[in-house]
Amino acid sequence: MKIIRLCGTLLATNTYLIADELTGSAAVVDPAAPVSDILSAVEKLGAGRIEKILLTHGHFDHLGTADALAERTGASVLVSEPDAPLLCDGEKNGSLLFLRRPVLCRSVPQKLRDGDLVPVGSETLAVRLTPGHTRGSVCFFVEEAVFTGDTVFADGYGRTDLYGGDEAVMRRTLLSLLPALAGRTLYPGHGAYGFRREPGSVN
Ligand SMILES: [Zn+2]
Repeated sequence: MKIIRLCGTLLATNTYLIADELTGSAAVVDPAAPVSDILSAVEKLGAGRIEKILLTHGHFDHLGTADALAERTGASVLVSEPDAPLLCDGEKNGSLLFLRRPVLCRSVPQKLRDGDLVPVGSETLAVRLTPGHTRGSVCFFVEEAVFTGDTVFADGYGRTDLYGGDEAVMRRTLLSLLPALAGRTLYPGHGAYGFRREPGSVN
């Protein structure tokens, strides 16, 4: 499996392209980067088709190019059940607050639940519900990589003061999630990416 990081245009959100070398199948996590950048990365990797668009949560800066990408590739959009209502609601997804204009994803999403397994070619991504930043934030586990969205960053964790955020819930999530991240390589929604969390890390 290969992972490429692309830079989003809104709030410099990290977009990730995952490609399964065996089958040429690909998926995109949090499409914030321009569609042209994503498609040329697919070409560079020699991957075939983007089959899935995976959203770690429903905030606007993680889904700005989801509709355009879905239209170009026929890929389906997947988001957790609790965050699905954020996709076409500019208040709830933060776009009206941050940009004073709505940024929406109108594609009808497939809804993910905790424990779901999402195939991408010969790879399988495991979905873990990690509420706190939003009610329906998820992390995607595949091989030794974890896409953590805005739940865990290199230097901390996501804010909990936006719609659906809850500090107490976030603390509970982190208590159970952090041990599961030990020894894995993290790909967060913002900032540094591709770093390993050593076993025994406490924060
Ligand atoms: Zn967010």
